[in-house]
Amino acid sequence: MSRFFSSRYRDLEAYVPGEQPKEMRYIKLNTNESPFPPPASVCEAVAAEALKLPLYPDPECTELRESLAALYGVSKEETFVTNGSDDILNFAFMAFVEPSVGAAFADITYGFYEVFAELHHLPYRKIPLLDDFSLDLDAFKKANEVLFIANPNAPTGIALSVAKIEELIADKPDRMVVIDEAYVEFGAESCLQLLKKYDNLLVVRTFSKSRSLAGGRLGYAFGRPEIIAELNTLKYSMNPYNVNRLTLAAGAEILRLDGVIKENCRQIQLIREKTAKELKDMGFFVTDSLANFLFARHPRLSGEEYYLELKKRGILVRHFSNPRIAEFNRISIGSAEDMDSFCRITREILKTKENTL
Ligand SMILES: *Cc1c(COP(=O)(O)O)cnc(C)c1O
Repeated sequence: MSRFFSSRYRDLEAYVPGEQPKEMRYIKLNTNESPFPPPASVCEAVAAEALKLPLYPDPECTELRESLAALYGVSKEETFVTNGSDDILNFAFMAFVEPSVGAAFADITYGFYEVFAELHHLPYRKIPLLDDFSLDLDAFKKANEVLFIANPNAPTGIALSVAKIEELIADKPDRMVVIDEAYVEFGAESCLQLLKKYDNLLVVRTFSKSRSLAGGRLGYAFGRPEIIAELNTLKYSMNPYNVNRLTLAAGAEILRLDGVIKENCRQIQLIREKTAKELKDMGFFVTDSLANFLFARHPRLSGEEYYLELKKRGILVRHFSNPRIAEFNRISIGSAEDMDSFCRITREILKTKENTL
């Protein structure tokens, strides 16, 4: 560390993204990207927009916000767009977490919540998931902190019903609840409808998982107009142009092809169910995931060993060192062919293991 690094950040432990290997061709099942390329018209829209690269993009992202608002039945003033949804989560920590109150989130959830709390020196509390990895609703209800909840949760894939989320929101009208719906398109219920009734809610979404645009970096959120205006105050205080032209063009075209996206999500769910069944047949415990990944452990193969054996054979999955989930791996749902290879290789690994016992 240089002597110039501010004391404010010396203890910061940055988020560790999943590996993006360049040296070898892996079947990549480690960062929950979409296996489907964007439709050709998206690439054409991006190519056409490239001619306008000398000009700054629209800082208000007007066209995209209007399209999102129309698609989801809200107003443009209730719609916020940024450079990936991580940006929105960051702004939400800055905007709504009071230093005297802090934030609360599950002990097993998206790792960035803790990183953002640390980054902004905000107090936070981790509320342990119950033994079955479901959310401890009673403990969340009692909390006075701003709640950050991924629904479905990551990396477990387990979802909460809208009725339960409504209980949390209704219970304490002066407590803000941020629902991170990064994976909601793969079978869970969105709580967007609750915005009509409650103002203490922010719903965060992304184009990264369902809409084949992780590389484009595009996130969006819905909230009451005053909440969105406050997020904009922060965005305009840092980088008003944080969504680039090419990404705005890609996003607008993808929204026009919503039927294709819905079909992709349906395919992912079918492949997920098929893969889950195969894993269970091999003796794995698999959580009931409603996301585009599975979370699985095997009684006779440690989480780390399974991760390393897959990697040796050209398949990347995500392993977390947190002791509570160290025996698990998170496996993104890839194409049908990739998942067939994944299941075949897993069978090989188990067979080799049984032979050496
Ligand atoms: C992937 C993910 C995000 C971030 O997505 P962006 O690519 O920044 O839009 C946010 N929350 C959860 C739970 C995620 O898994």
